[in-house]
Amino acid sequence: MQIKDNLTSIHQQIQTACQKAGRPQSAVKLLAVSKTKPVEDIQSAIDAGQHAFGENYVQEGIEKIQYFADKHPELEWHFIGPLQSNKTRLVAEHFDWMQTIDRAKIADRLNEQRPRHKAPLNVLIQINISDESSKSGIPPQEMLMLAKHIENLPHLCLRGLMAIPAPTDNLAEQEKAFNTMKSLFEELKAAFPHQPIDTLSMGMTDDMETAITCGTTMVRIGTAIFGKRDYS
Ligand SMILES: *Cc1c(COP(=O)(O)O)cnc(C)c1O
Repeated sequence: MQIKDNLTSIHQQIQTACQKAGRPQSAVKLLAVSKTKPVEDIQSAIDAGQHAFGENYVQEGIEKIQYFADKHPELEWHFIGPLQSNKTRLVAEHFDWMQTIDRAKIADRLNEQRPRHKAPLNVLIQINISDESSKSGIPPQEMLMLAKHIENLPHLCLRGLMAIPAPTDNLAEQEKAFNTMKSLFEELKAAFPHQPIDTLSMGMTDDMETAITCGTTMVRIGTAIFGKRDYS
């Protein structure tokens, strides 16, 4: 019951934030981040109408994808964690989206390894927006070069950008990072008018509303749907 109620409440929050921002509710998709959570919790979310799920760990994600493959072929699975190049094949073979592309080599491998009977793998370029040396993603000034590279890979489909800004309670800082992402997204769309670039993935449990105000098209929500994660 809890997960269903949480989803209802998040949809309401999305609707309210969209109204305030003068955006239609359909402009913001909800990705349910199910990392570390059991298949029973995912089933509850599915029963409540959720169909897009995000996973950070390759092996864990694939186990869940396989568990639901027959029962729920309509589900959409997004890989949203850091990816080592020796694990690209598993992502290329099992996921529908890969949100954290941060170098040409990873893109090349995913392109080569994407099974030919499947639709091209939807990809997002991850931007390092808060400029912390420890976080993944490319600096904004490298975006167009990497996008140009991906444009020539037939088994990948470039859909947009993703970012994980440094966590902060400072609203002005949140807005600054999200607004910069929105400008980059517009720049990318303008530079690649023939690509179906429609996805700006930003906003998590703690900064979802600001992300919506600033133009996100996909919020990635874990804690507010499934509760706190236990890593022990
Ligand atoms: C874990 C995670 C989320 C979800 O974060 P919450 O704060 O639990 O909503 C979103 N995006 C990425 C990339 C994550 O790793």
